[in-house]
Amino acid sequence: MKNIPDLTKIVGSYHFGSDSISALEATIAPKRDRNSKACIFFIDHFFQGNKLIDSLPIMQEDSVFYIDSSNEPTTEQIDLYVTKINEICINIPCCIIGIGGGTTMDIAKAVSILLGNGGKAEKYQGWNLVNNPGVFKIGIPTLSGTGAESSRTCVLVNKDKNIKLGINSPFTVFDHLILDPKLSATVPKQQFFYTAMDTYIHCIESLNGKYRHDLADIFSKNALRLLREVMHSNKLNELENRKKLLIASYLGGSAIGNSYVGVVHPFSAGLSTVLGTHHCEANCITMGKMSEFYPDETDEFLTIVKKHKIKIPEKLCVDMEYDLLSKLYEACIIHEKPLENALGNNYKNILSKEKIINIYMGM
Ligand code: NAD
Ligand code: ZN
Repeated sequence: MKNIPDLTKIVGSYHFGSDSISALEATIAPKRDRNSKACIFFIDHFFQGNKLIDSLPIMQEDSVFYIDSSNEPTTEQIDLYVTKINEICINIPCCIIGIGGGTTMDIAKAVSILLGNGGKAEKYQGWNLVNNPGVFKIGIPTLSGTGAESSRTCVLVNKDKNIKLGINSPFTVFDHLILDPKLSATVPKQQFFYTAMDTYIHCIESLNGKYRHDLADIFSKNALRLLREVMHSNKLNELENRKKLLIASYLGGSAIGNSYVGVVHPFSAGLSTVLGTHHCEANCITMGKMSEFYPDETDEFLTIVKKHKIKIPEKLCVDMEYDLLSKLYEACIIHEKPLENALGNNYKNILSKEKIINIYMGM
C-alpha cells in the first residue's frame, strides 16, 4: 500500500500589517446571520482593562473570556468553556476569536472544534480524529513564535492521562488570521525571546529530520532567515523586528504543519508534563543541551542567549529523585514520531533510558 502523507491545510485568509486589527469588525459582520449572531472572544488576561478591548467589535450578544495564560490549556478547561457556551448561547456561536499567545489561540481552536463535533476534548487528542469543521475561527496573535496561528494542532494537557498532546487535524487550522505587529509591543523581553525561539527550534528540527521535504524546507529556511535578522539585531522589540517575527512564526507553524519536530520537543514536553515548565521556556532549557544532536544550532542558540543576556533556568534536575527522572524519561520517549524523524527507526538504541536521564540531569 502507498504511504499517503497527512493532509495539509493552510489558513483560509488573513489581514496583515500595522492596525490590521481594525479589519476584525468587517471580517465578523458577514458571520452574524439569522441563525446566530453571537461571537465568543477568548482574550489573554494581559489585555483586561487595556485600551485594545474598547476598540474590539464586541456586541451585546457576544461573550468574552479572559484567559489566565500562567497555565497551559487543559482538556478539562476546554470542556468547561464548551459547557458554559452551550448554557449561554441558544444557537452555536457564529464565530470564535482568539487574541493572545499560543495558549489563548490553542483554547480558541479547541473550543471551535468541540462546538462543531460534540463530546469531550480528550476524544480528539491525537491525529485526524476530528470529523467536522468547527465554528469559524479567527486567530489574532499578540506574541510571536509558537506558530499556533498557522499550525494544524492545538496542544492540551490531559491531567488524568498525564500527557500533553495536540488535536492534530486539518479542521484545527484557523479560518482567518489578523497579523498585526502593533499588538506585541508590550511583550516583556524574556517572554519575547522564549517564544521567538520556538520558531527557531521548529525550523531546525524540521530541516534536520528525515520527513523534511522541499515545501517544508522553504517555510523553514525563510522563517530562519527572518528570525536570524531579528535575533542578531540589537533591539529585539522594535516594530520592524516584531513584523519579521510575526511572519517567521507564521512560516514556522506552516513548516511544522508540513513535517515534524525533532529531539528538542520531546525533551521539552517531558519538562512541561512533569515539572509544569511552559513550552517555550522548556524548549530553551533543552536547546542549550542539544550539542550531540544539533551541534551548530546549539552553538548559535547559545550565542544569541549571550548576546541578549537571557537567563535560562539551570540545575532543574540535578538533584532529582530517580522516580521523577523516570517520569521525565517516560514523558520524553513517548514522542515516537518526532524522535523517529530526528534519529531514525532505531531511535531507542540511540536514546537509552540512561542517556535520556543523563541529559535531563544536565538541565
Ligand atoms: P502564552 O500564550 O502562554 O503567553 C505567555 C505570556 O505572555 C503570558 O503571561 C501572557 O499574558 C503574555 N502576553 C501575551 N501577549 C502579550 C502582549 N502583547 N503583551 C504582554 N504580555 C503578553 O505564550 P506562548 O509562548 O505564545 O504560548 C505557549 C503555548 O503555546 C503553550 O501552551 C504551548 O503548548 C502552545 N503551543 C502551541 C503550538 C501549536 O502549534 N498550536 C505550538 C507551540 C506551542
Ligand atoms: Zn514548539
